[in-house]
Amino acid sequence: MMGFEYNALPWNIIFGAGTVKKLPAELKKRGYSKVLILSTPGQKENANKVIKILGAQVIGLFDKAKMHVPMKTVESAALMAAELDADCTVSIGGGSTTGLGKALSLKYNLPNIAIPTTYAGSEMTNIWGITEENRKVTGRDDVVVPRQIIYDPELTLTLPASIVGPSGLNAMAQAVVNIATDMPNPIVSSMACEAIKFISTYLPKIISDPTDIDARAHVLYGASMAGAALGTGTTSLHHKLCHTFGGTFNTPHAETHAILLPHSVAYNARVTSIGTNKIAEIMQVKNAAIGIHELAKKVGSPTSLKEIGIKKEDLDKAVTVAMEMSINNPEPVTADRLRQLLENAYHGHVPSAC
Ligand code: NAD
Repeated sequence: MMGFEYNALPWNIIFGAGTVKKLPAELKKRGYSKVLILSTPGQKENANKVIKILGAQVIGLFDKAKMHVPMKTVESAALMAAELDADCTVSIGGGSTTGLGKALSLKYNLPNIAIPTTYAGSEMTNIWGITEENRKVTGRDDVVVPRQIIYDPELTLTLPASIVGPSGLNAMAQAVVNIATDMPNPIVSSMACEAIKFISTYLPKIISDPTDIDARAHVLYGASMAGAALGTGTTSLHHKLCHTFGGTFNTPHAETHAILLPHSVAYNARVTSIGTNKIAEIMQVKNAAIGIHELAKKVGSPTSLKEIGIKKEDLDKAVTVAMEMSINNPEPVTADRLRQLLENAYHGHVPSAC
């Protein structure tokens, strides 16, 4: 067995249906009593559930969280927190809301409790991202890890199929890149394998029966493990490409991951055969890249870049932007091969080695 290093993150997790009710006790344990709730405009209903549970401990609701965490949004939320003298934030929602809570921890030292309601997995990582003047800056800092994470699958029952599919594939990506790698870490891999098993098995079940709370719980748990793998593992070409499309063309985060993942897996398959074979075995398919592509189709997630508004002429620019980044990837990345990968992803072709 090869040697390895592993650095854990300070996760505190409560998982289970109805566990959002444990929030008051968690606040008390930590001495927080003036809570600013964070959400997106669409998540007010879930935010109100939390407000009802916390009663007078809630001093305000900031419901303007946005995808990719614009600095202006961070500043508005910070102003509200300062005016109300908040001693912590509770973010309820997907990666956009979690990201706002993280940014407030990073810039203003405000502790955060996360109640994730999508499968983005951001709450399990120490990765932060803030967008200023159309440029998203990201970094790693343990201060952004939420003090407490509460996963309550009941809060995900309202997540529609159009978000469930891409969000689940987004979670798969965090796990897949940490197995289909030339530098596997056994602890990270074990969490990533768990994630792939539960997401690939239970994601289609949610689509066929949106009320299936057991399936929703399994995918939420899988997403948590995928986030854990990303948080203590690594990223590669796949994440750089998603960053390129999100940053340059403002494509939706989860959908971009869902579309590109099978193609980046196919790109690296030659040098990551042990990992890709492992993924195929877990998914009970012959080929990991094709299996992921088929899973995306099965759960109704977009499979081509053109479906999310990318034009053919954008592909050359994407190659240029991606090639300017430093990409840590098992397979060498060349402009020609990247262009072929993007051509395949643009059309939604069956993934193949480029
Ligand atoms: P999101 O948070 O924007 O949520 C997508 C949509 O789902 C929103 O409209 C939201 O209102 C809605 N929604 C959320 N929960 C719902 C529910 N229970 N019912 C109905 N609708 C619900 O998007 P996302 O995909 O969760 O997260 C994407 C963001 O997270 C990106 O900015 C990305 O960069 C970031 N992210 C960061 C990390 C990290 O480690 N830092 C990891 C993954 C994603």
